[in-house]
Amino acid sequence: RPRHRLFVDADLGPGATVALAEGQAHYVGNVLRLGDGDQIALFNGRDGEWRAGLARPGKKAVTALCEELLAPQPVEAETILVFAPIRGAKVELIAEKATELGASRLIPAQTRRSVVDKVNIARMRANAIEAAEQCGRLGVPAMAELRRLEQVLGDWDKAIPLFFCDEAGDAPPLIEAARAIGDAPAALLIGPEGGFEPAERSLMRRLPFIRPVSLGPRILRAETAVIAGLALLDAARRA
Ligand code: SAM
Repeated sequence: RPRHRLFVDADLGPGATVALAEGQAHYVGNVLRLGDGDQIALFNGRDGEWRAGLARPGKKAVTALCEELLAPQPVEAETILVFAPIRGAKVELIAEKATELGASRLIPAQTRRSVVDKVNIARMRANAIEAAEQCGRLGVPAMAELRRLEQVLGDWDKAIPLFFCDEAGDAPPLIEAARAIGDAPAALLIGPEGGFEPAERSLMRRLPFIRPVSLGPRILRAETAVIAGLALLDAARRA
């Protein structure tokens, strides 16, 4: 199995040749110093992972020829993370950790106490791709544009339970509430640094698909709650 994996925005299949984009060509050719006769693993999030032979037809050009299917595209459980975007770099951390922990979709949702009113989706996607390359995943989470929490909840697919991580009150532990979800679609909702407003909390507790859950007795930072929540959900899927 080649040592290096690269996510490419191109169709992959028997005999498919991928001309690497300039940045990736530079990385593969000049940083990894790979060239003719070397091999790399390619994946695109839908056609599985392929072993590809590299060629350097020109000074800055690197092409990869798909030779063998290393792994078919897995069917990943739908794990949706709805999160109140927090300050810049931490959103990139969330994109990276959510990818490592199996999230299939990231939905940034603006809440009353959000201090952030825009999200750099392109940056989040780049972080998610890097994380997928590093952690061996063949899928990359889908990214939704930033919307208000009310809008996200308004058109929610009611068949998908939304585990509302509520640091206040007496909610059951996530691992218990999510027991036996197996591979069924499930979602996690994490609030901003300032938490949810009482009005938001009471709105949410009225929605039939909302499952209030606790992540334990301590108040976790939002990014910690994302990591803990996704890890517990992943564990519940395997229990
Ligand atoms: N209300 C919190 C406080 O008093 O500091 C601020 C919110 S906390 C920093 C950020 C988010 O992480 C919360 O909105 C919640 O979604 C989640 N969270 C943190 N600790 C949690 C816990 N023990 N159980 C469930 N969710 C938690």
